[in-house]
Amino acid sequence: MSLLTVGSVAFDALETPFGKTDKIIGGAATYITLAASYFTKENNLVAVVGGDFPDEMISLLQDHGVNTEGLEIVKEGKTFFWSGKYHEDMNTRDTLVTELNVMEHFDPIIPESFQGTTFLMLGNTVPATQKLIIERMTSRPKLIMLDTMNLWMNIAMDDLKAVLKMVDLITINDEEARQLSGEYSLRKAAKKIMEMGPKTLIIKKGEHGALLFGKNSFFAAPAFPLEDVYDPTGAGDTFAGGFFGFIARQDGDTSDSSLRRAVVYGSVMASFTVEKFSLDRLKTLTQEHIDARVRMLRELAQFEAG
Ligand code: AMP
Repeated sequence: MSLLTVGSVAFDALETPFGKTDKIIGGAATYITLAASYFTKENNLVAVVGGDFPDEMISLLQDHGVNTEGLEIVKEGKTFFWSGKYHEDMNTRDTLVTELNVMEHFDPIIPESFQGTTFLMLGNTVPATQKLIIERMTSRPKLIMLDTMNLWMNIAMDDLKAVLKMVDLITINDEEARQLSGEYSLRKAAKKIMEMGPKTLIIKKGEHGALLFGKNSFFAAPAFPLEDVYDPTGAGDTFAGGFFGFIARQDGDTSDSSLRRAVVYGSVMASFTVEKFSLDRLKTLTQEHIDARVRMLRELAQFEAG
């Protein structure tokens, strides 16, 4: 059972009420593969970086069992760069800068050993690249999950709609779900988005948790309440990595019970990422840390009716 992740590997510069960072490591695929590494052994990455990307970061992923054979390094190019500023509530942010750099014309090559993957995670990146990856798989993965964001709805909606038709699951945040569907009610938005292709949809609501919609599923999971949120960047990607990594560990079981547990694991993984900048917390986890928080979340959300 292998998981292949595609998506941005990036430099980020962030402003939060706690402070400002210079260029630090970010990127959707970086967070996804690292989060998934706590669940799956065969964890493969296809992405592109420039010659400016530090070798230590590639080693960090490899140390967590991520196979980076599909990470193209364009020596003369620059790594994708994103800069964002969080509002006082830490739940909303503005993008200040997006420089696609080597990601703009990325022509993804899937190593032969990655073909036949069971699970394909299309992390946030250019929708045309996400579609190309599916087309370049010699056999269709058992499950394909997609994440995206408002930028692509603004500049590449047709490509995004084309790839949506080809996937099984999608994760998206509440603002993006409203933009994609044109509906304010998240239940109506979910219905419309599911008509676009994916059978299962997770709407992430930041510190307010996540909603799961599926043929036989309707579930709300709280976010793990923390005293301090230091930097929310990567929470959505970490959620996706934890969620899909869990589904992979369950051999692709998409029953309601499995999906619910996957959402909880996704929430818990995200709660670690936001405790520090970049990958600083995510890279130091153990299975015990994760399981302990899952148990706490279960107790927190349990109640008896009547
Ligand atoms: P999240 O906080 O989970 O929504 O994702 C944050 C990560 O997404 C950052 O580390 C960025 O590098 C990355 N990112 C931001 N904008 C884009 C974009 N347009 N395409 C791909 N990745 C992006």
